[in-house]
Amino acid sequence: MPHVAKSLLFLVLIAAGLHVDANRSGSSSLQHRGTGQATVMAPKLLCLMYHRFVDQAAFERLSKEQQAYAITPGRFDDHLRILKAAGRNVVALSDAIAFAKGERDLKRDSVLITIDDGCESALTIAAPLLKKHDMTATLFVTTDPNAYVFGCESGRCSDPRMSRKQLQAWCEMGFDVGSHGVTHRPLNLLSDSELMAELIESKRNLESLTGREIKALAVPRGKLDNRVQRTARGSGYEAVLTSERGKVEPGADLLGLARWNVSGRWSNTKFRSVITH
Ligand SMILES: [Zn+2]
Repeated sequence: MPHVAKSLLFLVLIAAGLHVDANRSGSSSLQHRGTGQATVMAPKLLCLMYHRFVDQAAFERLSKEQQAYAITPGRFDDHLRILKAAGRNVVALSDAIAFAKGERDLKRDSVLITIDDGCESALTIAAPLLKKHDMTATLFVTTDPNAYVFGCESGRCSDPRMSRKQLQAWCEMGFDVGSHGVTHRPLNLLSDSELMAELIESKRNLESLTGREIKALAVPRGKLDNRVQRTARGSGYEAVLTSERGKVEPGADLLGLARWNVSGRWSNTKFRSVITH
């Protein structure tokens, strides 16, 4: 090849290379425009809410509405496996509160598992599965064992409430406890004195039973207003959990922490989408 032709070919190759590099750097700068770095999302906390654990045959006998507040052991096992596979950190109640207050950093997106009402199935079905996956959970207990909770008909409950001994066994397994009132009545409909009695009596009862300070309240049926929040704070609660969907970030309103009710009717795909978005 003549010398001039060789030089021309060399120049064409260099120009082509520069063009490729220019395109690469162009697309890269678009990704990082503004900060000079890729955006890093701060970790968030997702609070999940379960209620009762029932076998498949019992689950199929429930109405669709009741199935939204019950789950089979197999499906709950799936959820814990999915949380682990997604790299979610399952935290204790004290860590969740400290994170919401901005006092504790969570290295990655995390989950607080909560179970409302205090039915026996939390101890007999959920606890062994939580242990199997090395995860923790917080039980929100309605302290009057005769209080009406979902799943009771004509005074008989398909899933009885835990006895004091069973609640102590739950605590000895290293799990947390919070208050879910005394009678499971909607707190926003009670008189001032009834409301105060529900919040103080359930707190004292659980503290004497567990020997631990009870710092959190989950409001029965998600019924929350400003008066309930003020009374909870005045009664010594640090945090109040609702049934409003959302995620918790540092600086969140401690007297209205969002939670997702996990329905037993959800597919695993639906559960995966809730915990990853
Ligand atoms: Zn409840």
